[in-house]
Amino acid sequence: MATISINLKEGDIERPGEVIAGIDLGTTNSLVAYMKDGAPVCVKDEAGKSALLPSVLHFASGDTIIVGEHAREQLIKSPADTIYSVKRLMGKSYQDVRGFEDFFGYKVIDDDTESLVKIRVKDRFYTPVELSAMILKELKERVENRLNQPVTKAVITVPAYFNDNQRQATRDAGKLAGLDVLRIVNEPTAAALAYGIGRPGEQDSHEQETIAVYDLGGGTFDISILQIENGIFEVLSTNGDTFLGGDDFDQAIVNYWLEELSIDKKLLTEEKDFGQEIRLAAESAKKALSSHESYKSAIKGSAVSITRSTFEDLIAPLVQRTLDCCRNALRDAGIGTEKIDKVVMVGGSTRVPVVRSAVAGFFGKPVFDDLDPDEVVALGAAIQADILAGNQQDLLLLDITPLSLGIETIGGLMDVIIPRNSKIPTKAGRQYTTSVDGQKNLKISVFQGERDLVEHNRKLGEFILRGIPPMPAGLPKIDIQFILNADGILTVRARELRSDLAQEIEIRPTYGISEEQMATMLLDSIKNAQSDMTVRGLLEARNEASNLLNSGEKFLKQNDGILSEAEKATTNALLKALHEAAKGDDKDVIHRAIDELNDFTSPLAHRAMDVTIRDAMKGKKV
Ligand code: ADP
Ligand code: MG
Repeated sequence: MATISINLKEGDIERPGEVIAGIDLGTTNSLVAYMKDGAPVCVKDEAGKSALLPSVLHFASGDTIIVGEHAREQLIKSPADTIYSVKRLMGKSYQDVRGFEDFFGYKVIDDDTESLVKIRVKDRFYTPVELSAMILKELKERVENRLNQPVTKAVITVPAYFNDNQRQATRDAGKLAGLDVLRIVNEPTAAALAYGIGRPGEQDSHEQETIAVYDLGGGTFDISILQIENGIFEVLSTNGDTFLGGDDFDQAIVNYWLEELSIDKKLLTEEKDFGQEIRLAAESAKKALSSHESYKSAIKGSAVSITRSTFEDLIAPLVQRTLDCCRNALRDAGIGTEKIDKVVMVGGSTRVPVVRSAVAGFFGKPVFDDLDPDEVVALGAAIQADILAGNQQDLLLLDITPLSLGIETIGGLMDVIIPRNSKIPTKAGRQYTTSVDGQKNLKISVFQGERDLVEHNRKLGEFILRGIPPMPAGLPKIDIQFILNADGILTVRARELRSDLAQEIEIRPTYGISEEQMATMLLDSIKNAQSDMTVRGLLEARNEASNLLNSGEKFLKQNDGILSEAEKATTNALLKALHEAAKGDDKDVIHRAIDELNDFTSPLAHRAMDVTIRDAMKGKKV
């Protein structure tokens, strides 16, 4: 297998020279960059003012969806219809986000703790993948308008700590936006590339280097320790704080001013316009203090001011927290600061001078901060894209899988286990369970391709795991591993973890398929991304409805004595409504029915649980 990428316009194997976009899909801001005359540049907005696209979506009346700066302006006025920080939800289940739902001003749905989160806006339900796709579409249009040509391929960056689900979600978002995602690259790797670190042919580097990438953005802080050898980046450790960033700097100034003006904090929530005004003024102050010694303004007619040294005192504990994370990252990597050859600064908040000096002090060396810290990740992504396009000499050609590999799951859906363009050899796996009580056999069908339904993909083989000990549905733990070796041979191994029952097959995925056929498959997947996503959404909604109908009926039976007649009647009516909704073809109608049923029954479930526990305690001898 060789490194191939496919020309989507003509459906043939790509020639060097084509533009591939480099995209930084950020929590606060997103950017797109491309290679212009051998150097990466970020594309600015229409007004030519800023390369940053705020990662915010506003659902205006009608079907209008606004992305970027204008959406950001709606954050305070209509929080329920304005979505920010989608990246925090990528590839996450409700279980993952429990405990910080309050952070989001919009409604994050908790219909099933294990499936992926959805976001409710008005009467529609969106996945984080769909929402991210809207941001990516905007960036795609931005670069297309600039170059006056279609751009269909991209490299997208993600934090180094993103797991497989989060990476796959990012890939799916790209596909939905009409982009062939050639590679998902770690943000710190991209930042290093932007500085020429680890680039093939770079002279100044020794054989092996260890670097630290310090990324302080709007709402998150990440520190990554990377080791680079022969152009290969290895993540030694990552650390950080998912709720620490420039927003906290702004908040520190807000609190300081409230005290100065003797205004109660409650006013922030009571008078949203005031809250908005003071927060924006605080952000302006913070930015001004990065290059000036003091800042003056007026809020509600009262003069406010702040000096740089006061600001530095206010944020000292926050900066200290980032350094504590750096210490933890070094500890996990098993090295001391003296082993770090270079420190790279990333993220808008590293513009704050005291942040730069504190980090330089901590590592005991000057930091790399010549490039614009907002742009550095996107610039590096563009360089990585250029390497993939074959425009750079001396590049390392790595063997990759040309098409995704996965298995069929309920409803005929494709569940990707090894995504396309993964470096080989590689190994990946996931756990599954049974869907019927007492199920003894499980058929595992292996497919190749990019479509959401397996019927559109290529079947590679199947086998049956027989003799699973009878257990209630959902209890068996079946681990499925895909192991793709350097010769391109795939071993699929299934094992029931409770009984240790196991079985496997070997397949050669590239056997009997030409590069042209692969190109056609890929092309079809991009063409059908929108309709595939719709079908998947509907099948998943129906699946969720069927699970909920089962558990709802069980719940009614088990708690007959605890529930009032009225409660039983309403629950039954809601179950019936869900049953009807699930017969239809509108996923939003199904989700609404699920949402209503859950809203009504969850307090009942809590009560039933309390009673059960109380009864159990009664019987207990202390
Ligand atoms: P993310 O990676 O989370 O998308 P960014 O890297 O774009 O975020 O960083 C955004 C943060 O950088 C915001 O909090 C913003 O206020 C801050 N920022 C931007 N410019 C400056 C500046 N000149 N001085 C201080 N902070 C800044
Ligand atoms: Mg960032």
